[in-house]
Amino acid sequence: MIEPPGLWRDTCAEHVDSTPLMGDVTTDVAVIGGGFTGLSTALHLAEAGCDVHLLEASAIGAGASGRNVGLVNAGLWLPPQKIRARLGAQIGGRLVEELGHAPRLVFDLIERHQIQCEATRAGTIHVAQTPRQCADLRERAEMWQELGAPVTFLDAQQTAERTGSATFIGGLFDGRAGTVQPLSYARGLARAALSAGAMISDHSRVRAITRDPDGGWHLHTAQGSLGARRIVIATNAQTGDLWPRLDRCQSRIDYFQLATQPLGDRAAHILPAGEGIWNCGTIMISLRRDQAGRIILGSMGRIVTTARLSERWASRTLARLLPDLGPVEWQSAWHGTIGTTPDKLPRIVQLDRDVFAPFGYNGRGIAPGTAFGMGLAQLLTGTGSCALPLSAPQPLRAPRTYARALDAALLARKAFGTMF
Ligand SMILES: Cc1cc2nc3c(=O)[nH]c(=O)nc-3n(C[C@H](O)[C@H](O)[C@H](O)COP(=O)(O)OP(=O)(O)OC[C@H]3O[C@@H](n4cnc5c(N)ncnc54)[C@H](O)[C@@H]3O)c2cc1C
Repeated sequence: MIEPPGLWRDTCAEHVDSTPLMGDVTTDVAVIGGGFTGLSTALHLAEAGCDVHLLEASAIGAGASGRNVGLVNAGLWLPPQKIRARLGAQIGGRLVEELGHAPRLVFDLIERHQIQCEATRAGTIHVAQTPRQCADLRERAEMWQELGAPVTFLDAQQTAERTGSATFIGGLFDGRAGTVQPLSYARGLARAALSAGAMISDHSRVRAITRDPDGGWHLHTAQGSLGARRIVIATNAQTGDLWPRLDRCQSRIDYFQLATQPLGDRAAHILPAGEGIWNCGTIMISLRRDQAGRIILGSMGRIVTTARLSERWASRTLARLLPDLGPVEWQSAWHGTIGTTPDKLPRIVQLDRDVFAPFGYNGRGIAPGTAFGMGLAQLLTGTGSCALPLSAPQPLRAPRTYARALDAALLARKAFGTMF
């Protein structure tokens, strides 16, 4: 994997000046992984005057950060009350509060560092197709409203006007949210980190981590080594065997997307204000447009090129959602891997005294990854703490079983089904 495949690579407006690690160098904090989490950690550490060196196995943004939908959402999958119920009023309350504001952090960084990433702050809409889903969204709207968040419930007509599709019978509009071109956002963070003084080496996979006799660490790559006092492992769903059992602390789900050619006026009525949407079904779908007027449709699973299964699924689904649009040509297709946890909550685990690993955003990592990176930088510089307390790693018994079962079900759906 050299570059993330797909539309985001083809339309990326940001460039990172970086070369592989050569020879033996040292730093204070080594960050492993050049996605939102690692890049935000490196940026905020460098801005605080800390010596930091980030190592990325491939190109910057090659993981989930350069492949995602680009919905900059507030909060997590779970509604605020459930987060509080699971984590307690104090920890849960702080997490809800900080992640509720996290899109603002993202858009402030974009503004401050002039990141060219097609940022829109038009909100996002969580759409419903059944009365039960509507009731759930109404309840979520009330919970956020109690916290003073600009979240409103839309009825069927309002949802149709905002989305351009009559398929939905309600929606939850979140005015804190927005969209970005995710690979450009990741690479813009990298550019900002470099100019703040961080070192970044791409195409530098960490093959092994060893401990020095003085308690420090060495990270070994193909052509060099990095000595560090502290380590942040921000490798998300691609951790592999980098650190014993860390990879088993989360499960995985694949998510694919297809983008049309730019559609011009034909698609002007679809999401005219620029929101992104996703549905409530067990098998999620997402829909958004990019700056050039392409429609980007996504769902769970991988791209299947055999018999053009994914393209055919996408054409059928788009025809159901937007029957007036007519046939479209698909220009680009790609997929990526989402790291998930059984309780749908992220983690920041402490693997050793000076080794930390944030992960488990459950498909909602743009704003949380950016916020956790900033929180870790504050923790490491002694200027603050993370939104989540550090925890011990808890490997799952069978992290791959669910992923495999889901893969099989999704393939069948792609061959025979439409939306669900
Ligand atoms: C298809 C898809 C759609 C999504 N849609 C959304 C969305 O709309 N909104 C949202 O908020 N979230 C979304 N997400 C989730 C979000 O993209 C992730 O939560 C987020 O990108 C995680 O960022 P990260 O930095 O933790 O990990 P990643 O971006 O995955 O970065 C990890 C990096 O570590 C590198 N790495 C791994 N091993 C090593 C090693 N040994 N040495 C050096 N480097 C290594 C990898 O190459 C990779 O670049 C989506 C995810 C996917 C896959």
